[in-house]
Amino acid sequence: MADCANVRNKKIAVVGAGLVGSLEACMLANRGYEVHLYEYRGDIRTMEHVPGRSINLAMSIRGRTGLGAVGVEEKIIREHGIPMRARMIHNLDGTTRAIPYNKDGKCIYSVGRRYVNEVLLTRAEEFPNVKIHFNHKLLNAELDQGAMTFLDTSANEEVKAEADLVIGCDGAYSNVRKQMMKRSWFNYSQVYIPHAYMELCIPPTPDGEFAMPPNYLHIWPRGKFMMIALPNQDKSWTVTLFMPHEMFQTLDTPDALLNFFKTHYPDAIALIGKEKLVADFFANKALPMISVKCSPYHVGSTSLLMGDAAHAMVPFYGQGMNCGMEDCVVLDELMNKYDDDLEKVLPAYSEHRNPDAEAIVDLAMYNYIEMRDLVNSRLFLLRKKWDDFLSRLLPGTWVPLYTMVTFSRERYHSCIAKKKWQDNIVARIVKVCSVAGVMMGFLFAKTEAAHTLANSFLTHINSLATKTLAVVDRS
Ligand code: FAD
Repeated sequence: MADCANVRNKKIAVVGAGLVGSLEACMLANRGYEVHLYEYRGDIRTMEHVPGRSINLAMSIRGRTGLGAVGVEEKIIREHGIPMRARMIHNLDGTTRAIPYNKDGKCIYSVGRRYVNEVLLTRAEEFPNVKIHFNHKLLNAELDQGAMTFLDTSANEEVKAEADLVIGCDGAYSNVRKQMMKRSWFNYSQVYIPHAYMELCIPPTPDGEFAMPPNYLHIWPRGKFMMIALPNQDKSWTVTLFMPHEMFQTLDTPDALLNFFKTHYPDAIALIGKEKLVADFFANKALPMISVKCSPYHVGSTSLLMGDAAHAMVPFYGQGMNCGMEDCVVLDELMNKYDDDLEKVLPAYSEHRNPDAEAIVDLAMYNYIEMRDLVNSRLFLLRKKWDDFLSRLLPGTWVPLYTMVTFSRERYHSCIAKKKWQDNIVARIVKVCSVAGVMMGFLFAKTEAAHTLANSFLTHINSLATKTLAVVDRS
């Protein structure tokens, strides 16, 4: 049994004060550790403009659990979040249709990245055992020793620091991860998808209202590319255009851009405004999207990766931040389980979290196709109806994949396993129905041979139905 008082006197360095690092600092401070939070950028609370990615994000239960653990869920979700209860699909002809996320009316929330980060930084500062070092860029680390070298960008000088544990929360291009990559037995893979993204904006109407119904995540699925929009607290919309990066390059004049919008997103031109569309598009850069897997996440008892540093994913499941915040919850749970004994906690964390993180990285990639393509297909809508029907029939047993991922804390890898099981059942049911159809045909033929064949089909159906029910029972 670890000596708690002693263990909690340990010094932990969290590198990166983004969404995950600032939450992790609060979690560790809650446990009594001396926490040093190092951030490359200055204090975003004092900046007029914060450079960086996506202005707003979809927050769901996994992220909310993390926020709840440090007492800021109410402030972020209730006071600030905008509920999005359904996808709103924009068809080419300008018509729209809503596809609810969940039959029980559960919703996701649009939150501002900057706001969430600021609330978490302020919360971290409320702990006397947290010190935030802004303008500190990690240059190097000897992870076995917990020794780090930073560049203090405000003084332009190198600073040395030490800690018992170094946690890399420094994002998709993590420097802590780079240090781990120099070690044997560390596995790493990355994929850049062919698509890039660019953020545009739909301003509020002249009377200061939302230009579209606000409680939706709006989607313009167009097969090879798509556009989405999430509502902001100031009644504007952040619009994100996703398409192959070569396509961005072909839109090199205002006319080319406007023609492209007229062809593919005609209803969006009036919403954004012609001049604003041209000005914003040419003032912005299309950004790449990377997917990262690595393992293990730890080095001995002295270093750990969390958030995007461990598992950057493409943004199509709206789970990157949610998963990163759940990382903090999982680490906290393991600290409880192993009484803060880092020699046990860190390997247990890698073992527990890796299959889940890799599962959501894969699911995000799957949704990359679903969002731009499948939400528009009849098969997708049919499957959704089917899932809704079965989840009413077998509540708790038949939970649609999106619901498991977004509205529960079911482990990600188990969500995939359950989905495979469901697909198996659906395939069997489809088989049964087709066989039954053929059988009916024979029955109506009324010949003896047809009757014999029909009887044998009946036996087959009976056996399939028994097997199906047995699998449903086992779940
Ligand atoms: P980051 O947010 O990248 O923070 C890393 C921090 O580390 C930064 O503050 C950075 O300045 C700092 N840092 C970097 N290098 C160093 C260094 N050398 N030294 C010190 N500090 C350093 N997720 C969702 O859950 N829902 C969504 O709807 C969603 N939408 C998205 C849309 C887009 C377009 C994109 C690109 C991502 C989206 N995500 C979404 C994913 C989400 O943004 C990330 O998963 C999340 O930001 C990860 O948080 P993080 O703290 O791990 O990394």
